[in-house]
Amino acid sequence: MKIAVATKNQGKLKEFKELASNSDYEFIHLPENIVDLPPETGSSFYENALIKAQFVSKELGIPAIGDDSGLEVDALDGKPGIYSARYSESGTDQDNCLKLLKDMEPYEANLRSARFKCCLVGYFEGLIIKSYGSLEGDIATEFKGSQGFGYDPIFITKNGSHLAELSKKEKNKISHRSEAFKDILKELDKLVS
Ligand code: IMP
Repeated sequence: MKIAVATKNQGKLKEFKELASNSDYEFIHLPENIVDLPPETGSSFYENALIKAQFVSKELGIPAIGDDSGLEVDALDGKPGIYSARYSESGTDQDNCLKLLKDMEPYEANLRSARFKCCLVGYFEGLIIKSYGSLEGDIATEFKGSQGFGYDPIFITKNGSHLAELSKKEKNKISHRSEAFKDILKELDKLVS
C-alpha cells in the first residue's frame, strides 16, 4: 500500500525513510506540484497533523500520514510547543535555536528540562488513526553536533549526548518520531487486516 508522508521538512523525511525501510508499506514523499501545505491553524499537535494528512490524502487520492511535532520546555510553560517551527522571526533552524538559547539564559541546569513531542495522524478515506511519541531531555547552553535538524544541536538526551551528535540510526532508536511511528504501524496493521 502506498502512503504519502505529508511533510515538506527534509529532516523529518530523512527520518521517515529510515524508519520505514523495513515496513510492509511504501511511504512516498510529496510530488513537486504540492508546493505548500495548508497553514497550521490547529491548537494541538493532533489537529495540525490531521490538517496536513487530510489535505494531502485528498490532493493525491491515496492515504496520507501527517506529522506535527515540536519541543516543550518546562521553564517556558511548554513553549515553543506547536509553534516550534516559527519560534524566531525567520523560522530557520539556526535562529530558532539561538532564540531558545537566549530565552533559557536565566535558567540553571536543573531548570532546563524539555521534551520533544510527535503526533502522527493517518488519513485513510475518511478514517483517522493517530499515535504519539515523546523524548525527554534538557536544553543545552551551546550547540553541539552536526546531524539531525531543528533543535537537535541544543537538546541533551538522558545519556548526555546532544541529539545532533547521534547518527540517524541512533536517533531513531530513541526518538519521539520513532515511538509514534511504531505505534502508527500497529494501527495501520489493524486497519488493513
Ligand atoms: P512542524 O511539525 O512542521 O510544525 O514543525 C516541527 C518543528 O519542531 C521543526 O521545524 C523543528 O524545529 C522541531 N522539531 C520537530 N521534531 C524535531 C526533531 O526530531 N528534532 C529537532 N527539532 C524537531
